[in-house]
Amino acid sequence: MRRRFLDYYELLGVDRNATQEEIKQAYRRLVKEWHPDLNPERRKEAEEKFKQIQEAYSVLSDPEKRRQYDLFGTVGDVPMSPGVGFDPFSDLWRMVDDFFGYPRSATRTTPRPERGEDVEVVLDITLEEAFQGAEKEVEAPVVVTCQDCGGSGARGGFRSCPDCGGSGQQVSTRRTPGGFVRTIFTCRRCGGSGTTAAEICPSCQGVGRTETTRTVRVVVPPGAEDGMPLRIPGQGCSGKSGGPPGDLYVFFRIQPHPIFRRDGPHLHLNWSLTYPQLVLGDTVKVPSLDGEVELVVPPGTEPGAVLKIPKRGFVTLHGGRRGDLMVHIHLAVPKTITEDQRHLLQELAKSMGVTLAGQSKSKSLTERIREKFRRS
Ligand SMILES: [Zn+2]
Ligand SMILES: [Zn+2]
Repeated sequence: MRRRFLDYYELLGVDRNATQEEIKQAYRRLVKEWHPDLNPERRKEAEEKFKQIQEAYSVLSDPEKRRQYDLFGTVGDVPMSPGVGFDPFSDLWRMVDDFFGYPRSATRTTPRPERGEDVEVVLDITLEEAFQGAEKEVEAPVVVTCQDCGGSGARGGFRSCPDCGGSGQQVSTRRTPGGFVRTIFTCRRCGGSGTTAAEICPSCQGVGRTETTRTVRVVVPPGAEDGMPLRIPGQGCSGKSGGPPGDLYVFFRIQPHPIFRRDGPHLHLNWSLTYPQLVLGDTVKVPSLDGEVELVVPPGTEPGAVLKIPKRGFVTLHGGRRGDLMVHIHLAVPKTITEDQRHLLQELAKSMGVTLAGQSKSKSLTERIREKFRRS
């Protein structure tokens, strides 16, 4: 189904005179904003919008399609078979030719080369792969030139159209009150090309292209961002009638990490320390994406504090700068303790002037016996 009334300029939020660069920038921004994976709470809406943005960009980024769109408010998106391509101009000239009755042999329609469609795939990567960069493979569903007919759609080549004898036109003569009127019109059988397929290619049903899956190597750049599209030129669908191939767009989707959370160039990590470490201070080793790093815990650190380790966060895509590693400090409260530890904690509480209400009830049997001996 075609949506004919979509205003591509309005969709991309650009002016009608926008340059290719402005269109590209608007597209990049919107693709990030509306990527369905980045909009889980309004996924349906995002998917629709995302599709529309792709559609608008595929037209406005192609000067030829954009010209057609500006003129006609739509572009042909029906699959072409040789000789019957959507070409408003050739159709226009055909009408002019037919109107004036010009011989058509000189204006025989030849299939117009057309660029292949762009293809999009989502590639799941780990946070480590986004950090270091990686080489991956994606399976891209593409439409390629049919191997069996070489894209012509015909098996056994073409032959002269039997209906028009190869001229691409037919003539009808009608009697009217004013005399005979001779009308020349485009041959319906061959669409004006003058040739028809000897036999429709069974592999592609005459379309000239077939669907397949292509394995494409993808280089993930260090610092890759979630939802970021990577363009691989020429790895989209094959062109039609000798046109150039489309591009492949790989969208990176970074999987959640078990311990690190990424926030732009920074990394966040939750780290638990014991009460003595927080009170007295300590130097501990914490993980980062490129090995362990030392974290200096100052004396008197409170749970909830965020300690920053500079330049151990994420790399930025361009410029090689690095973000920071933000360590969120938590207090590790043990669920089970030894008798010695219990005793020490009680001593500590006593020296801090804290009276622990209800402690006697939860005292262990040995503790109570020990106290009994101490008192007597
Ligand atoms: Zn014909
Ligand atoms: Zn074929």
